Amino acid sequence: MMYPGKSPYTMLSVEDCVEMVASQVKGALGQEEVPLGQALGRILAQDAIAEVPIPAFPASIMDGFAVRSAEGRGAFLCPAAATAGERRRPLEEGHVRYITTGAPLPEGADAVVKVEDTVQSVRSDGLEVQIPASKPGANIRQVGSDTAQGERLLTKGCRLGAAELGILAALGMRRVQVYQEPKVAVLSTGDELVDVDGDDLDETRGQIRDCNRPLLCAMVKELGATPLDLGLVKDDLAIVRSALSHAFNSADVVITSGGVSRGSKDYIKEVLTELGLPGNPVSCFVTFKLLAAPAIEKLRGRPLDCPTYARVDAMLASAVQMDPDRPEYHRARARWESGGIVAESTGFQRSSRIASIAEANCLLEIPSGSGVIPQGQVVKALLLPGEGLRPEPEGFPRKARKAEPAPKVDRPQEPKTGLLVLGDAEGLRNLRPQLLERRPKEANAAKEVVERWCRQDADACDLVVVLANLGLGSADAEVLAALRSCLDKSCANLEELLLRRQLQQSPLAMLHQSVAGVRSQTLVVTVSTFCGDALTDILALLPQALSSVRSDAP
Ligand code: AMP
Ligand code: MG
Repeated sequence: MMYPGKSPYTMLSVEDCVEMVASQVKGALGQEEVPLGQALGRILAQDAIAEVPIPAFPASIMDGFAVRSAEGRGAFLCPAAATAGERRRPLEEGHVRYITTGAPLPEGADAVVKVEDTVQSVRSDGLEVQIPASKPGANIRQVGSDTAQGERLLTKGCRLGAAELGILAALGMRRVQVYQEPKVAVLSTGDELVDVDGDDLDETRGQIRDCNRPLLCAMVKELGATPLDLGLVKDDLAIVRSALSHAFNSADVVITSGGVSRGSKDYIKEVLTELGLPGNPVSCFVTFKLLAAPAIEKLRGRPLDCPTYARVDAMLASAVQMDPDRPEYHRARARWESGGIVAESTGFQRSSRIASIAEANCLLEIPSGSGVIPQGQVVKALLLPGEGLRPEPEGFPRKARKAEPAPKVDRPQEPKTGLLVLGDAEGLRNLRPQLLERRPKEANAAKEVVERWCRQDADACDLVVVLANLGLGSADAEVLAALRSCLDKSCANLEELLLRRQLQQSPLAMLHQSVAGVRSQTLVVTVSTFCGDALTDILALLPQALSSVRSDAP
């Protein structure tokens, strides 16, 4: 007998795998009606339409007095009250009626005066109230002003969270049409595996805990689907075959882990070519997120064209090593910092190191390649839903602080700043750009970004800083020319100032060129990484320079 050698299967790209699994899913399984209280997390199978207006009657927004506004200001008798939940009764002429928030406006009344604006006194014939002048409709929530009759509040395919259940309750929907949940069978394969509730491990036999099943079942539950735990399966062809056939008979999705590598007892591939996940827990986690979760989501009723993850730009908090053979989904913890998302690696990424998924809230898309991606580089990150960004010190809630002094009216607003990093220049730590892009050091790329950021609409930047080392070579000259061609006018003084500051830092700055000028209302400047400590100075100068070029000083 020979042991298995090279795999007969070709390696697929992640995109092809995602596509392949997605193509198996034709849509939701079916529908069912459930009581509102059991609909949390389910996917809505019908639009939620307001059949009646909300509010259905004109209601008071204040605690106060219902009045006929045409009767004007003066002293009125208030013989009765209208409190929320009471039957509506007409208001007699010449009288006012005490009314509480949410109570229906008495017929005849057309405004509410809030109680704080009135003066009450008790007379022998009852309560007298001094009422100021008011306008028709004052302090009244009109019929349908919150939600018009026929308005669609929720769309088929939406996930029902707490907010959505509140909305359905407001619409009076005590039963809800939702999609059926897929049953997802989960099983682990491996002679070395011991259930977490099972015996002590015998390390002489290389036994380990089965962590994939609890991990997978929990991820299935997190999606809202129902896991069906089919336990541990031995590495035996006949047993694997019968376990899988049972799984297929009892579930809509079957997820297996282990037994798909090139070991002599890796039978899963032999028995099936369905959704088998790799054995190592981290691979299992990542593969589930990339392949299984989107498919299960669609089976649960989420629209077929709806992406599962937000794909955002994230700046690396530290350098990341690339893998020469394959792209990696690097586990990381993302947080908001200085106007952008910063991602911190969870550390050593070996697929058996389950610690690398601890508190991960995103997967960084690291392409295959040689070398490292440096700190400060922006990469794409898939945000894992339910996790959110990690809270940062400025988050909510915070300890109450002493009232901050009101901002001075004449304080200039922080300029909206775009930072364009060309080539492998390192990001600017002390700049807090609202926009950040990283492009190759190439003329068209630079021009496209600068023009876009300077376009005169609400999104235009006040300041565009291009961080690039632009020397004397012909490629750099093209980039410089492209940047210059974007400008309506250049600012020679500012260019000279930039050069002087950079020269104070290093004589090598002589070999670098700077561009400063204005396009429409935007100041565009290039800075080189040579600036070093002078950068802080230079950046501090820019808002001042911006206001002077805007006021059209030379
Ligand atoms: P396999 O694909 O079966 O060769 O497994 C690859 C690696 O993942 C081996 O080190 C296995 O011990 C490990 N592994 C497989 N299944 C599990 C599991 N359910 N829990 C923890 N580790 C596992
Ligand atoms: Mg195995």
